[in-house]
Amino acid sequence: MATTTMPAANLFLDHPDSIAPATLFVDVVFDRPFDHAYTYGVPDAMRETVGVGKRVECPFGRGDKTTEGYVIRVADVPPERAVKNIARVLDDTALLDEHLLKLTRWMADYYLCGWGQVLHAVVPAGVRDKAGTKNVVFVQPTPREELPNPLPTVTPKQKQALDRLKKEGQPMELHALARMMGGGTAPISGLISKGLVRKFVERMERSEIDRRAEFRKEPGESPGHPAADAGRLATPIVMNADQTAVWETLLPILGEGGFHPFLLHGVTGSGKTEVYLRAIEEVVRQGKEAIVLVPEISLTPQTIERFSGRCGVVAVLHSHLTDSERGQYWRRVAAGQVQVVVGARSAVFAPTRKLGVIIIDEEHETSFKQEATPRYHARDVAVMRARLANVPIILGSATPSLESWHNAHRADGYTLLSLPNRVENRPLPKVQLVDLRHEPKTPGKHFAIGPTLELGIKNALKAGGQVMLFLNRRGFSTHVHCPSCGHVAQCAHCDLSLTFHRHKAALVCHYCGFETAPFTKCPSCSQVSIRYQGLGTEKLQEEIEAKIPNKFVQRMDSDTMSKPGSHQRVLDAFREGLIHILLGTQMIAKGLDFPNVTLVGVVNADVGLHLPDFRAAERTFQLLAQVSGRAGRGEKGGQVMIQTFTPDHPCISLATRHDFISFSKQELGHRREHNYPPYQRLARLIVRSEKESLAAAFAETLAGAFKAAVARVTKPGAPSLRLLGPAECPVFKLNGYYRFHFQIQSENAGMLHAVMREVLSAAKPPHGVEFQVDVDPYSML
Ligand code: ADP
Ligand code: ZN
Repeated sequence: MATTTMPAANLFLDHPDSIAPATLFVDVVFDRPFDHAYTYGVPDAMRETVGVGKRVECPFGRGDKTTEGYVIRVADVPPERAVKNIARVLDDTALLDEHLLKLTRWMADYYLCGWGQVLHAVVPAGVRDKAGTKNVVFVQPTPREELPNPLPTVTPKQKQALDRLKKEGQPMELHALARMMGGGTAPISGLISKGLVRKFVERMERSEIDRRAEFRKEPGESPGHPAADAGRLATPIVMNADQTAVWETLLPILGEGGFHPFLLHGVTGSGKTEVYLRAIEEVVRQGKEAIVLVPEISLTPQTIERFSGRCGVVAVLHSHLTDSERGQYWRRVAAGQVQVVVGARSAVFAPTRKLGVIIIDEEHETSFKQEATPRYHARDVAVMRARLANVPIILGSATPSLESWHNAHRADGYTLLSLPNRVENRPLPKVQLVDLRHEPKTPGKHFAIGPTLELGIKNALKAGGQVMLFLNRRGFSTHVHCPSCGHVAQCAHCDLSLTFHRHKAALVCHYCGFETAPFTKCPSCSQVSIRYQGLGTEKLQEEIEAKIPNKFVQRMDSDTMSKPGSHQRVLDAFREGLIHILLGTQMIAKGLDFPNVTLVGVVNADVGLHLPDFRAAERTFQLLAQVSGRAGRGEKGGQVMIQTFTPDHPCISLATRHDFISFSKQELGHRREHNYPPYQRLARLIVRSEKESLAAAFAETLAGAFKAAVARVTKPGAPSLRLLGPAECPVFKLNGYYRFHFQIQSENAGMLHAVMREVLSAAKPPHGVEFQVDVDPYSML
């Protein structure tokens, strides 16, 4: 037992297995915010098993608590000071290869967090606890030259077992052999102790064990095997001229390999997926592997089918997997048994060993940004991974992020590929703006759907088409207030107003999930005339059902789609025409391909437009373009109606013309003028505490450190750097924490990092205060 009072040099005496000082040393990082590696000695018994990329247990921190860490370096040069020894090696094989170690090291540097934190986030829990695997005992006859002399005598049962094992010609599972002999394991144990049979233990996938069992019963292929997939080969599509031109640029580079980033800008329905599929087929043909990132929301069976129908063994990593399934996939990918990994954000870390290409569909999607430490953006990590692995990467979108668009217009940036038209010359849908300021109103009533859109829906249905209605706000009433005193129903833990959910009969905070009973009497002034205003999808559904009777209306948002599989059931029913009107949040905006949808209605285009976020216009444009892209995908064509109070706002008027290029020009102009990304780098530091005064005081302390650091780097002639803050965050109280933030902008990423590093390394938040670092932030609230 080591104690903290013991001088470090005496520690060797405490460990029975380290009487002799260690001669091998490892550097270990822990799941902690600091970026520092600790050196430990390796007891002789662990020399063979320890290795880079494996986890170890070692005494760490106050009281030498046994703590799990990752080995990042092995060396035989003793450190200057005596060190403690590791206690245990946890993994049989390295969890990460050199290439993923480099990538995670880069992430720790770039996102200003601990390497150990990154490693902990990257390796799935199911891999860490070896979920889904099991130790299996195998037996085999002792090799002739090593048999005991003289040969011991055996019982008849032992002889029977030994003969059976010899006949097998390869190692057998101990229990399988015992079962075959119709009894327990005693005869086999006897053989082992007599030295006639040897046993060894192997860690195996549970599914592998099952498959073996299956195989014995009935030889055949299990589902998911390449032979099973081959039966479903879709008929190949003949590419059009635009696709062919794109493909002719890509193919030679896929053939040569090497880092080469592409931005594929293709309007909705232009056939981007066909290009992805060919790129994947090409690298699989070369014996390599592909990683495909798609937004979580697009991981539908329809998407998966498109990939698995054509490209070998496909593993899909979605959020509904159990830890053990995730662990199994990880190990299968690492073993080279999977050619294509399709998944959301975290699939960028899939441990492929022969990566050939990375593809990111809908690269502009904000869900690629992780909003917890490490706060990485999967697209940016993917570009770095492609660089380290020296392979091409294809980013695709109908509405590229302005960061990627800007990169595609720089001399040393991405190669731009374009698919400017829909396939088979299908037109983009006609978009009509409905100005809500001029729609006829019904006195005393607030309707979500004006007469123009209502008529549009009726006409579309009459002609046999289907309708999608988009509203990016769930719940029934989004604004509950008292007209006499102005009291607004607010979350107890956040500066956010509560939304009334009628089905649940509760007021709910959409950020932290806080719920409270709805009130009929104002909690502040006791008046009984509480107003339930503001429109969510729940109320919209009620209004549609009243206005358009005898049609089947289905709502799709996170409230109605919480059960696994419900999403797919609704989409299947919609495809079969059993649902006439599908209404929902952004869940229905992305990637869906329903040829019979002839009208898409946007109930309120202004919802996200006025947020205090420099990306508000970009997001609104993207969302309108995505939603519009759901219309007119079949031969019947289709149209879009957008209700808005601000029809002249450029992001709305340009979206109606599907004019991304003009929008990007305008918006980039604003960004340049206000020093926002992509022209300047941005980092954000949030200081938070449950006590407002503590947060405020520490923010002031940090402000001093920031000013000093900024003064040191801003020299005449150096690139500019600007510090904003400390200021209260736009949502000051969130989840029970009071929050202050700093923003730093600089045209030079190195400088920005230098300042952040200097401030963070010296920052010692008092008890009860913590900070969050966000490099390239997406959430500005
Ligand atoms: P995007 O991803 O660009 O929105 P998709 O890849 O979903 O577009 O393509 C839309 C539809 O067009 C799909 O059903 C696809 O199978 C089909 N398609 C793609 N390329 C062609 C082509 N060259 N000819 C005919 N149909 C095509
Ligand atoms: Zn809340």
